[in-house]
Amino acid sequence: MLAVVCVEPGKLALEDRDEPALASGMVKVKIRSIGICGTDFHIYEGSHPFLEYPRVMGHELSGEVVEVNSDSTLSIGDRVIVNPYLPCGKCIACRKEKPNCCSSIRVLGVHIDGGMTEFLNVPEGQLYPANDLTFAQAAMVEFLSIGAHGVRRGEIKSGDRVLVVGAGPIGLGAAIFAQIAGGSVAILDLNSARIAGAVSLVKGAKGFVLDSNTDSEIGQYTNGDMFDVVLDATGNKRAMESSIKYVAHGGTCVFISVVKDKITFDDPFFHAREMRIIGSRNATKQDFDTVISSIKNSMIPIDLLNTHTADLRDLPQKLPQWLGEQDVLIKAVVTLN
Ligand SMILES: [Zn+2]
Ligand SMILES: [Zn+2]
Repeated sequence: MLAVVCVEPGKLALEDRDEPALASGMVKVKIRSIGICGTDFHIYEGSHPFLEYPRVMGHELSGEVVEVNSDSTLSIGDRVIVNPYLPCGKCIACRKEKPNCCSSIRVLGVHIDGGMTEFLNVPEGQLYPANDLTFAQAAMVEFLSIGAHGVRRGEIKSGDRVLVVGAGPIGLGAAIFAQIAGGSVAILDLNSARIAGAVSLVKGAKGFVLDSNTDSEIGQYTNGDMFDVVLDATGNKRAMESSIKYVAHGGTCVFISVVKDKITFDDPFFHAREMRIIGSRNATKQDFDTVISSIKNSMIPIDLLNTHTADLRDLPQKLPQWLGEQDVLIKAVVTLN
């Protein structure tokens, strides 16, 4: 079967691999669509903090069931969405029903080979029905669920003022779900093109382009109160440190994106606000369900988010090209027929 392999940083190759045999507890899925995300670009560029090459990337996956074990509740031909966060099922986080932050989590396409291939064995519990979603839409559920999870972590309530920092795909997802949760949403980014795109997609959101006036503009906009919840989706140390200063007294800062660095903050500033600073990692079935039902209810401009497409066979040419189109690229979805 066909597989696209990241052989080493900067090198993608088409390979012919053996089709996996169905294992117990697993479902064999024919992969149909693969979303490409920042993680894949980092793996390709060699900037991912922990990664062994060669690796078959691909964790934003949809497909159809082609083979099941006799005890399976799925049927051949079912359209499915893959939750790529494989938990151990035993650790303290798993015991607390937080498999998204399992202490020995394995992520398809990162720690183990993922879905840039024709067939993949997936544990049955990691598959959710895609029902009426197209394969491309279904492959976009995973990245949106990251934002939905961040919003849930932030416990956003109707009427809350929410600032999303970073208008990349994860930030856009967070902004969309913050709005669905009833938040009054503003989005901040360095890049004016990204802000223009973000406010056209997230109707009613206020956009701020980061410059020397941002602090006073945000102060005016919030009547000096700042935001009930700040959702940071930058993965940038400086941005994350300044996200904290936009949190209101009694408010919350959620770090959705991770940075391989130390974040520092001023303790009196933090204490005076009795601020919560919390992490948000991956997503759970509940978040996938939220995303799936929001797409079904036409609450997400799902097709507008899919800015780039390609056939999997062309990915070794396309992926390096997309690296240079980050201003206009929201979500690239690769298909396999
Ligand atoms: Zn992703
Ligand atoms: Zn675990």
